[in-house]
Amino acid sequence: MTEPRVRVFDAPRADAIGATPEAFLAWLGGPAMLRVPGRDRRRARGLATLLHGNEPSGLRALHAWLRQGAVPAVDLVCFVGAVEAARRPPGFAHRMLPGRPDLNRCFAPPFDDGERRIAGEALRLFREAGCDALVDLHNNTGHNPPYGVVAGVDAACINLVGLFGERLIASDLRLGTLTEATHGDFPSVTIECGRAGDPAADACARAGLARYAALDAIETRRVGVPHMTILERPIRVSARPGVRLAFGAGPADGADLTLTGDLDRHNFELLMPGVPVGWVADPDRWPLVAAGADGREVSQDWFALRDGLLETRRAAVPVMMTVDPAVAKSDCLFYLVRPREELLAPETTTR
Ligand SMILES: [Zn+2]
Repeated sequence: MTEPRVRVFDAPRADAIGATPEAFLAWLGGPAMLRVPGRDRRRARGLATLLHGNEPSGLRALHAWLRQGAVPAVDLVCFVGAVEAARRPPGFAHRMLPGRPDLNRCFAPPFDDGERRIAGEALRLFREAGCDALVDLHNNTGHNPPYGVVAGVDAACINLVGLFGERLIASDLRLGTLTEATHGDFPSVTIECGRAGDPAADACARAGLARYAALDAIETRRVGVPHMTILERPIRVSARPGVRLAFGAGPADGADLTLTGDLDRHNFELLMPGVPVGWVADPDRWPLVAAGADGREVSQDWFALRDGLLETRRAAVPVMMTVDPAVAKSDCLFYLVRPREELLAPETTTR
């Protein structure tokens, strides 16, 4: 088998890329970097999408934008990642190819083979292009408003996220994402456009991309964004390995942990202590692991078990909660974040 590489397409013609997003993927054939000439050809700006094959909003937006033949303000350098995973039947159903690593966890050295090598090539191409910014478009699975994730907050990143939504998560977790790898190079943001398959998420990606491509310059002062809620220091909450997981309105047969089926309704809500989130079959088997940037296991600081009921122990804002068991297993259950504004009791605020 030959090693997969990033194919480079210079100035793709609108009528050559395929009439549908699916035909566009077939035309790309694999991970690809497209360079779309801008009005100012001396400058460049980065876009990434489809790092996860089951998150189509950004790909659909890019396809529609290319088909319009729109001319960006500066050259737009576009990386399309998990093309093979997205094309695998039934289409846009696989985050990554079975048995392969998650591409958006591969943007940290070594870039030795497979997905890591693709990630390394994409990074090199973005850096060589001298991008003034990078936006990476994603979807998630639960009920979520559009929001951004950044590895370091500054005015440029807030302005970029403001093209898509009004919420921003400042993450100090280091997972190996594209945004983490590039935040020292140029303003770099991940945008979660909303739930995969939701027309509102597709519309968010499409409108935001058009605005981003049309910007003459990336604004580095805090102007033009009416409001941005900033949440920070996420804690990643997962089920312990081997825990049988279910979602439902009551304890499910054969499940070690049943999470309430409408858990994702609480995304971006402030949950106070004592809110039930699920049922645990065996009270002697603690079902969760949770860690922030320092890697310390803190799940029992945030959750408590009372008469088989799992409940919150401290006030926190959950984000990216999923009610899809496959996603919960392959990635995580959700993240807990803390508002930057002083909404909480003094010991849980940031400064
Ligand atoms: Zn994603």
